Amino acid sequence: MTFPLPPNATIGIVGGGQLGRMSAIAAARLGYQCHVLTPEENSPAAQVSCSVTLGDYGNRAVLRAFAGRVDVITFEFENVSADGLELLAGLRPVRPAPAVLRISQDRIAEKTFLNRAGVATAPWLPVRSFGDLVYAAEKLGLPGILKTTRLGYDGRGQVLVRTEAELVVAYEELFPKPLILEGLVDFAQEISVIIARGAAGVMVAFDPVQNRHREGILDLTLAPAPVPDWVAEQANAIAHRVAAALELVGLLAVEMFVDRDGRVLANEIAPRPHNSGHWTIDACPASQFELHIRAVAGLPLPHAPRHSDAVMKNLIGPEETALWPEILATPGLIPHLYGKTEARPGRKMGHVTRVFPRGALPGSFGIADALGPLADQQI
Ligand code: AMP
Repeated sequence: MTFPLPPNATIGIVGGGQLGRMSAIAAARLGYQCHVLTPEENSPAAQVSCSVTLGDYGNRAVLRAFAGRVDVITFEFENVSADGLELLAGLRPVRPAPAVLRISQDRIAEKTFLNRAGVATAPWLPVRSFGDLVYAAEKLGLPGILKTTRLGYDGRGQVLVRTEAELVVAYEELFPKPLILEGLVDFAQEISVIIARGAAGVMVAFDPVQNRHREGILDLTLAPAPVPDWVAEQANAIAHRVAAALELVGLLAVEMFVDRDGRVLANEIAPRPHNSGHWTIDACPASQFELHIRAVAGLPLPHAPRHSDAVMKNLIGPEETALWPEILATPGLIPHLYGKTEARPGRKMGHVTRVFPRGALPGSFGIADALGPLADQQI
């Protein structure tokens, strides 16, 4: 297959979740077909794709069958094995490359990579034994956060350690998984930047956004982030630096902290569309999903600055999903539902966007008002 991918070519998406669903919708608009690999029947992504390979990510025969049905492969899900992606990469172009996934899957590899690329992070040390933890706590100081190096998401696999006495409990909770201890950042806000990079090195980034979490799960994204230009510029520069150092072909989200002095520290990278970029569907001429597909397909990557400011609110679990009828009846709320059949607590079921004229993003009270039936869900 040659790039740019011609219309009607098939893009293989590893993972069947909402990120794959919204990527497939963007791909369809660009004239591509999508084929999804997932073990899940009736997955959000497969519901809007042409076809699906149902099977396990770790099964080599399944991976081969999937590769045989597609022209290029991308992923929407980071907890797929990098070895599986390597196998796929021997059969079809995989974008982003498996090496990029490998870095983002492991906090030690990720933070080592970031620091070597000259990007500041919270201070951190690896923890392979209780002795390591005591040493790390002494070196970094407490409070800190003990985190598993792999498979952590939405705040899972991490424990806040306030005092020396809490070290044992935290360790017992997470050991024997490989761990790191990170110094706690007293952040003023959490922000993220989403950037696309093409094979020839062209990069386009969306403006930094502010992310507000509830119980470790993203609740609200405000676009743009309420930060001065010099802070936004640091965030932007970090995203460009990381995407270039990774030699990324695809899309990347960089989650960051802004500390009390306005210094920006990178926290995590995700080489895929990201929840904090969902607002781009409704507020930009080309969304993060379109830029993802464009980068994977080798299409041009036009600058796509937002035409509107936006607030995105996730619909999480049964309580917020129950507000769907009221959401649909509220003028100005742009609804998105992911087609998941079971609304378990903490599960991302959909999201709602509200757009405002550029430069007119209201403060917190205005945002609460603008979210109508979701206003009470804690802003
Ligand atoms: P993570 O899984 O690393 O994205 O962490 C999930 C959330 O925990 C982040 O969005 C922050 O709210 C918080 N967090 C993680 N690491 C730190 C840190 N070093 N200092 C302060 N807060 C943190």
